[in-house]
Amino acid sequence: MTTQLAASTGHSHAKSDYIVAKFGGTSVANFESMSRCADIVRTNSQVRLVAVSASAGVTNHLVALCKTDLSQLEREAHTNGVITIQEAILAQLSLDADLAHGFTETLKLFAAVAAEPLHTKAQQDELLSFGERLSSYLFTQVLRRQGVQAIRFDVRKVLKTDSQFAKATPDIAATAAAAKNQLTPLLTEQVVVTQGFIGSDQHNQTTTLGRGGSDYSAALLAEAINAKSVHIWTDVVGIFSTDPRLCVKATPIARLSFDEAAEMATFGAKVLHPATILPASRSHISVFVGSSREPQLGGTWIEKEKSQVPGIRAVTQRKNQILLTLKSPEMLLASGFLARVFSILSEFNISVDLVTTSEISVAITLDNAPNASRPELEQACLDKLSEFCHVSVENNLTLVALIGSEIQLRQQEMNLMQVLSDFNIRLICHGASKHNLCFLVEQSESDSVVQAIHSRLLESQQAA
Ligand code: ADP
Ligand code: ASP
Ligand code: MG
Repeated sequence: MTTQLAASTGHSHAKSDYIVAKFGGTSVANFESMSRCADIVRTNSQVRLVAVSASAGVTNHLVALCKTDLSQLEREAHTNGVITIQEAILAQLSLDADLAHGFTETLKLFAAVAAEPLHTKAQQDELLSFGERLSSYLFTQVLRRQGVQAIRFDVRKVLKTDSQFAKATPDIAATAAAAKNQLTPLLTEQVVVTQGFIGSDQHNQTTTLGRGGSDYSAALLAEAINAKSVHIWTDVVGIFSTDPRLCVKATPIARLSFDEAAEMATFGAKVLHPATILPASRSHISVFVGSSREPQLGGTWIEKEKSQVPGIRAVTQRKNQILLTLKSPEMLLASGFLARVFSILSEFNISVDLVTTSEISVAITLDNAPNASRPELEQACLDKLSEFCHVSVENNLTLVALIGSEIQLRQQEMNLMQVLSDFNIRLICHGASKHNLCFLVEQSESDSVVQAIHSRLLESQQAA
């Protein structure tokens, strides 16, 4: 590898030429896909820090292993699932001594931790962390095999978070300080391979950032090392006008503003973890999304844009939504009702999406992702709310969002009403942000709703 050293960053805030590359689960699923990713790193000497996800399938096994009521057979099946995926990659590699020792020990530790039911969230995060810990050993060796000088680095030394296991919040200042001392000096000498998704709290206990969190890790690390951009390598050639798995006519979007991308990610475009844009936008780091299978096809660039293209640019959906309706006969009189509701929701660290209110009720939507490593709505929270209001919970809903800039209820949106008249719409929100218009539909209908919107509003726009 030609080692082109990045401009020295004498001042801690000056941007370096570094690029952080993140490879998602399918990109590091097996030896062949890891080799394609290694090519991407080898051919761009500015890529000095690499964050990898767990190999595809591994985190799902780990989430399953966190359940406390597994039978012995189930437990063994999920444990072997993880081992089989890793060993298939290992079979094509010969690990150097430094990596071999760590990999073997980590795999042994995983088998020991997975053998018994884990009751605390801290223990469960420790278990969830093994996917990234294992894949990062293997990917480091794949890079070395291609002649890239690479070392593996345990991200838990620098990515500091609070102690909210399964959904930890990063400590930006502590992360920056630790990265400056322990990570940045390593980057001048070689490519550093580290883990997405995981971090550690102030007691050095392992934490995780929530499902899909590796994108967020990559952006946080980029911020911490003053990188100029983050490249998110996944299995699609960028961010599309809607999930390309759902609409064959979905088209990749060449450029998005930070705001638009953040809204898309928040409202369900799984291609980016919702928080990814936060560090990027506050630290002026551009984000690229492309396919590790076909890097030559380019992808989407997300940057701070002065003038955004007006109109609808994408439609997203987020399934498994809960609609929580809280009614209080006292609301008319009690001006503290909403404040009380929101303080309880925040106490349970629940992130609220849509909110609509009437005089005596407030309706709120929340996530209930089946693969989340923690249920969003805990019984304890419902109990606390029930102390002062009537609570109703509806499941099996999907949040559909139109994303763009300056979305206004003009001609295009009138067409929307026509499209929607065929479906049962539960709740509409528009106006709080000029970048989205969203509503709830029955989950069983939501794919059809998205397809109808894409075909009637986005494809006609593309043709225009
Ligand atoms: P990775 O494992 O690389 O993080 P993910 O599975 O998390 O990949 O994200 C990529 C997937 O996101 C794609 O395969 C695609 O099905 C889905 N997706 C959902 N909405 C969009 C969108 N608007 N554009 C592109 N991909 C999307
Ligand atoms: N491995 C984690 C997950 O599957 C994090 C990630 O891939 O982004 O959720
Ligand atoms: Mg992902």
